[in-house]
Amino acid sequence: MPVRPIVRLGHPALRAVAGALSPEGLASPETQQLIDDMVDTMHEAHGVGLAAPQVGAELQLFVYASSGHDIPLRVVVNPMITPHERELVYDWEGCLSIPDLRGLVPRHHSVRVRGLDRAGRLTDFIAVGFEARIIQHEFDHLNGVVFLDRMRDLRSLSFTDEWTRFLVHSRPEGEREEVAALG
Ligand SMILES: [Zn+2]
Repeated sequence: MPVRPIVRLGHPALRAVAGALSPEGLASPETQQLIDDMVDTMHEAHGVGLAAPQVGAELQLFVYASSGHDIPLRVVVNPMITPHERELVYDWEGCLSIPDLRGLVPRHHSVRVRGLDRAGRLTDFIAVGFEARIIQHEFDHLNGVVFLDRMRDLRSLSFTDEWTRFLVHSRPEGEREEVAALG
């Protein structure tokens, strides 16, 4: 399966509002191929998530998976994300489209996800913790929002090398290897 180039900040697709997929559009060979390619591209880039605009496709579609957190591969289409708990949690994020930078981002601890899977079946579930963070990060990409926009204080912004050297221990145990590439 082809790995696609990941576009970086400055590419208009990262600032556009993605369009919903119709049932026919989702079932089309082009979209099913796009999904396969996104999964391969995410793994190749060592990311835990990837949204369609990150490969230049302005469609409401993202994929995510994390073996380190026992989060199985999921494909989410035309999602609606709502906070499940009001609680906000700060943690480090990076983005494959903003290479080499890390920052502290507040996210809801848990969210409700409603949308479709790749076969067009309705899906409705609650995601918690790191999975909820990935989902909120990827969902933002569908609305032209990146993690920098969500930071409340830019002073935590750091290059990866400096982050590893000086800041890595300020994040919770067990998530250190994953933060390098959220999606
Ligand atoms: Zn991202």
